[in-house]
Amino acid sequence: MASSNNFLTNSDKVNMKKWRVFLIPYFARSHLIPMADFAGLLLAKHPDIELTMVITPGNTKFITSSLDKSNDSAQHPVQILTYPFPSIGLKPDVETVRMDNSAESSDIEASHMARPGLEQVLQQHKPDAVIADVTFSWIAAIAADFKIPCLFFSPLSSFSMLVLNCFQKMRVRPGLLDHVTVLGLPGPEIRMPVLELPPFVLEENNALNVESLYKAVLDAFGIVVNTCRGVELQYCNEFEKTEARRAYFVGPVSVSYTMYHGNIIERGGEGETSCLRWLDTKEERSVIFVSFGTQCYFKSAQLHELAMGLEGSRQNFLWVVRDSDQSDEWIPEGWEERIADRGFVVRGWAPQLAILAHAAIGAFVMQCGWNSILEATAAGVPMLTWPLAYEQFINEKLVVDVIGCAARLWEGGKRSTRETEKELVPRTVIAHALSRFMEPEGEFSSVHRKAQELGPVARSAMADGGSSMSDLSRLISDLITAMENKTCQ
Ligand code: UDP
Repeated sequence: MASSNNFLTNSDKVNMKKWRVFLIPYFARSHLIPMADFAGLLLAKHPDIELTMVITPGNTKFITSSLDKSNDSAQHPVQILTYPFPSIGLKPDVETVRMDNSAESSDIEASHMARPGLEQVLQQHKPDAVIADVTFSWIAAIAADFKIPCLFFSPLSSFSMLVLNCFQKMRVRPGLLDHVTVLGLPGPEIRMPVLELPPFVLEENNALNVESLYKAVLDAFGIVVNTCRGVELQYCNEFEKTEARRAYFVGPVSVSYTMYHGNIIERGGEGETSCLRWLDTKEERSVIFVSFGTQCYFKSAQLHELAMGLEGSRQNFLWVVRDSDQSDEWIPEGWEERIADRGFVVRGWAPQLAILAHAAIGAFVMQCGWNSILEATAAGVPMLTWPLAYEQFINEKLVVDVIGCAARLWEGGKRSTRETEKELVPRTVIAHALSRFMEPEGEFSSVHRKAQELGPVARSAMADGGSSMSDLSRLISDLITAMENKTCQ
């Protein structure tokens, strides 16, 4: 283990009962990854708690590889328990949900379909506490029946959870309004086009019952959020006042992966290194990293425009093209030869943490998934935002309009969370945005400066004495007290 345990005295350790805590991530990669990082962090900081990750069989390999190094020297390595992946219409070997893998069920239906399997595991093994992904909001009621504390784990920002809750309460009706304003939040006024809201907060399509999710969080023992006070202080303060009995802001958990795991290249994937060797040949802060997370996808026509835009920008770029985008019909004729000396395309999975930490990276074109935002923030990399779905447009508001460590790639056309409503982003817009953003001492120099200033703030939250480490220590102490007293409140 890379770190000594600085949370407990020796006599504490001798007298300690071993508590068994179950961690239950949702089956999407951007939920599995931060939960595995969090497990590694708990293991490093409190090796006497027995941790078990409860997952579906197809995600075992992925979780085990993420935990291997942390487990190597641990007294009680993180255990894995499996339950059957629910039948939501995916191919037999696929056990993670994405927008393009044609699940027949919505995310929330999938979460409910997982209930019998998970309930059986909990019945059988009777843990002392559970920390479950916030998508599994129904687990709070089961934990209450078992009289054990239930905490939720949220891979969303405090800001986006507050904004989503506000929109949910407003019951926005699409068609009546073009824009909506968030009421009652600290900081600048937040006003958003209705088209940019996730369909699940709109009344017409409320498959994800956000209201019951928020109620479950309020009723539960507390919530662990992958964020840090230094990045969104006013929203963390507001969130803990209004949205949960207890809130613990313990991120960015990716920084703990870097601290305790040792090999950031292997996080979440096979450890592809050729792109890192290519980055070694480029000047400091001269390369634009282009990647859009794990859940969303582009149609071929948009990939084609993006390829042409990257070429037209005349900038160095490292672009991750997802495995599902690999039909190649998007590749412009002769493009690969023309961009050969300044462009590198990764097919499939890229070692994102290692890429963002590389000195050659000068900017990140991204979809505003919260994990990626936190990872870029901790690395001090400024972002150009291109949100696509879910709560990504809300995260964009935070990083562009409130914090100022990012700029919008496209202000002009019709943007939307819904595929059928959005306009194609043209190549000329992309090329122009990239070249303007990379201009030394150009109009975006304040954005670059802000991002560089925030890097040490986010990283220091995870150091001893940092805000996230004191929240983690408070979490462990509250949890142990609750387990000792056998109380779920
Ligand atoms: N990621 C990665 N390599 C890839 C694609 C994604 O390591 O090629 C990781 C990334 O570092 C982040 C997560 O996958 O931790 C994506 O989460 P995010 O919240 O940004 O986006 P989502 O997948 O929900 O759109």
